[in-house]
Amino acid sequence: FLSVNGPFPCKPTSTINPADFTSRLLRESSPLVPGLGVAVNLLNVERFPGLNSQGLSISRIDFQPNGLNPPHVHPRASEIIYVIAGEVEVGLIDTSGKFFNATLFPGDLFVFPRGLIHYQSSVPSCTSLSLSALNSQNPGLSLVASALFGSTPGIPDSILAKTFSITPTQVEDIKKAFGGH
Ligand code: MN
Repeated sequence: FLSVNGPFPCKPTSTINPADFTSRLLRESSPLVPGLGVAVNLLNVERFPGLNSQGLSISRIDFQPNGLNPPHVHPRASEIIYVIAGEVEVGLIDTSGKFFNATLFPGDLFVFPRGLIHYQSSVPSCTSLSLSALNSQNPGLSLVASALFGSTPGIPDSILAKTFSITPTQVEDIKKAFGGH
């Protein structure tokens, strides 16, 4: 019979082979995100079916100098980052509004607890490379700024204007930067 974990069916046991547990998709960087100078190559269960039911995923991040993986949350996972090359500034904000940050060098680790807003940025002087492990096969990703200003349909300007104590015109300007509506 077909067993199911979320929307991802498990293969019949008799057909499982070593290739199911192998992925070579982290050999390469993802395309750089224009304007941010960062490339995030996340292998979740969708892209690496062998992760199904294991509660794991992994992400390769390539940074240009000053490259930024902007503030975001993973609703279903904590994240641990390991810096391989370069120098990476990381930060998180806890639910009491306290800011935690660190400068990471090759070999260093930093933990982002589940659901907290965090970011990673390479310093101006070098490119950087990191790996992150996340404790969900489908961590989820919500980029804070583009969620608020680039959603479809858009959040009403009046709501965002009041939230940020800015004018509806300023809201419109920010929305344009995120391709919002
Ligand atoms: Mn993250």
